[in-house]
Amino acid sequence: MSTTLPKKRIALFGSTGSIGRQALEVINNNPGLFSVEVLTGQSNDELLIKQAQHFKPDVVVIGDEKKYGKVKDALSALPIKVFAGEKALEETAAMDNYDMMLAAIVGFAGLRPTLQAIENGKAVALANKETLVVAGDIVMQKALENRAPVIPVDSEHSAIFQCLIGERNRIEKIILTASGGPFLGKKPNFLVNVKRDHALQHPNWNMGAKITIDSATLMNKGLEMIEAKWLFNLQPEQVQVVIHPQSIIHSMIQFEDGSIKAQMGLPDMKLPIQYALGFPLRIANSFPRYDFKKPNTLTFEDPDTRTFRNLALATEALFKGGNTPCVLNAANEIAVFAFLRNRIGFLDMTDLIERTMQHVPFIAKPTLEEYFESDGEARNFAASLIKL
Ligand code: NAD
Ligand code: MG
Repeated sequence: MSTTLPKKRIALFGSTGSIGRQALEVINNNPGLFSVEVLTGQSNDELLIKQAQHFKPDVVVIGDEKKYGKVKDALSALPIKVFAGEKALEETAAMDNYDMMLAAIVGFAGLRPTLQAIENGKAVALANKETLVVAGDIVMQKALENRAPVIPVDSEHSAIFQCLIGERNRIEKIILTASGGPFLGKKPNFLVNVKRDHALQHPNWNMGAKITIDSATLMNKGLEMIEAKWLFNLQPEQVQVVIHPQSIIHSMIQFEDGSIKAQMGLPDMKLPIQYALGFPLRIANSFPRYDFKKPNTLTFEDPDTRTFRNLALATEALFKGGNTPCVLNAANEIAVFAFLRNRIGFLDMTDLIERTMQHVPFIAKPTLEEYFESDGEARNFAASLIKL
């Protein structure tokens, strides 16, 4: 590959997380292609400091304002600007010191900085699916207006994106694959007793806590259906989910002639991260390759939405649209947070989300302000359902 290309300047929002750390591995392996200009983390000050000392970005943001002094002091010998707090994330996203944001903050908190990057006309490598679940119509419209490319990092959406290259033909449907998570095949009488530590053991992927729980409940696939609708401009009925426990096929497109294109590889998030950062180039690497003999059987089955009702709720939100996906997402964030603290059981998460969806009034075409209000209302109501 030519080394004469200017380096792509990356702003890594959520650098201390699972996606963030893997992105820094990719960047570290390709120093001629990328530079790191922004690093942000919410509370892990020690890791953020280490990352900053190694990558020497222009700006570091620590979310937790109490940790500002420690981060500032630790980096005082380096020419690095240090900021703290939520507002600083947005202000940094509005800066001109980067070419591409990797949006790797988890949850609703990622929405404002990502929107800011888009309004700033920057390319966004999007891991933070909640941004599109909450306000996909506004985010994609603004991306169009500001000519800001949105490149998916989520492995399923990266697969669809890769399958679309070179195609001008209509999509009949997309088929999102799901591993099924650690409780594939289990029934409610088992799930009722599941505890956080068991739910945090994912068979194929090593991810942050929230998405790992979302994978165990299948909410993750529901969020991904909504994410796909916005990314690829689809109708709800064009999005199908199939359980594929080996996670080798990362997703597929079926065209109008019945032909199906799939993207395959070993389950390793560094691949879609690297693809999004390097797009449109594929970057050579020495990651392990898929050997067709291991696993040599790829299997597929329908999801059990009677047991994993979160997927049914998310499908309902996908079809209903308006502020419903935003409400679903907010209630889910509260539910997962409470489950991770052993405050509610595994199946209680679904009840909490369902009751919140029934409670918050429907808005067919919300403004950004109304999305924020719906999010707040849903969070308050969901939290009020958790017994103190
Ligand atoms: P994580 O919990 O490991 O990391 C989250 C990052 O966000 C951390 O850097 C954390 O400091 C930061 N953060 C948390 N709360 C914040 C807040 N309120 N304000 C600002 N920053 C905050 O999560 P992850 O697994 O890396 O996932 C990140 C995003 O990528 C999620 O939206 C997830 O759905 C998506 N994603 C992750 C994977 C994966 O393999 N981990 C795969 C596909 C998509
Ligand atoms: Mg995914």
